[in-house]
Amino acid sequence: MTTIADNLQQVHARIAQSCARAGREPASVALLAVSKTFGTEAVLEAARAGQRAFGENYIQEAIEKMAALRQMGAPTLQWHCIGPVQSNKTRLVAEHFDWMHTVDRLKIAERLSAQRPPHLAPLQVCIQVNVDGGLNKSGVVPEEALALAGAVAALPQLCLRGVMSIPEPAPDHAAQLALHQRARAVFEQIRASGLPGLEHFDTLSLGMTADLDAAIQAGSTMVRVGTGIFGGRTRPAASETPP
Ligand SMILES: *Cc1c(COP(=O)(O)O)cnc(C)c1O
Repeated sequence: MTTIADNLQQVHARIAQSCARAGREPASVALLAVSKTFGTEAVLEAARAGQRAFGENYIQEAIEKMAALRQMGAPTLQWHCIGPVQSNKTRLVAEHFDWMHTVDRLKIAERLSAQRPPHLAPLQVCIQVNVDGGLNKSGVVPEEALALAGAVAALPQLCLRGVMSIPEPAPDHAAQLALHQRARAVFEQIRASGLPGLEHFDTLSLGMTADLDAAIQAGSTMVRVGTGIFGGRTRPAASETPP
């Protein structure tokens, strides 16, 4: 039976292979372990194997996990919100998470900034871009990403870190790469814009278990891997089925 630690090793090996093919340093790609729907034991096992950054879609579930893990004596973990968030949940995100990947409108960003407790470091945020107009309608269209980035970068309790995208599943590597390259183009456009507040703009959050290789070829600096680490989920992801 393979363990979570084995799976983590395999994912790291896969990242290293993709980086070698793309002529990149493996250290330039961070691994976010997507633990949605999995329990605290699974997170703890990954943490014991050295994983520190975890991604969650369901806010309430994530907050319960964080508290339980603290009680269990887990090391300090970094929590990334990667699911869609409605206005009435922004306070929970601002109070409990380190990163928020799915900012796609200014109103959400303004609430997150206003609700971020002053004793915490600024919330690290990515702008979610909708690169394919797919069924998953979350994300700002590429044409509006730069304007949103400018407004978000000006908010005091947020630190704009980069761009995130969740393309619709594509049939092969070439099709995956084409979609990921659209997100890369938006990332480069913002980075080259000279906007104030981009001092820490360094993250392209791109790629999941199925399209990690194409994402790394397109320049991803953070892959979000669930299935490859924890195995198949028995209930659907929030981003696939709204609650
Ligand atoms: C669930 C999810 C992932 C992980 O997907 P896998 O296919 O299990 O690797 C990554 N990103 C987001 C936004 C997700 O919702």
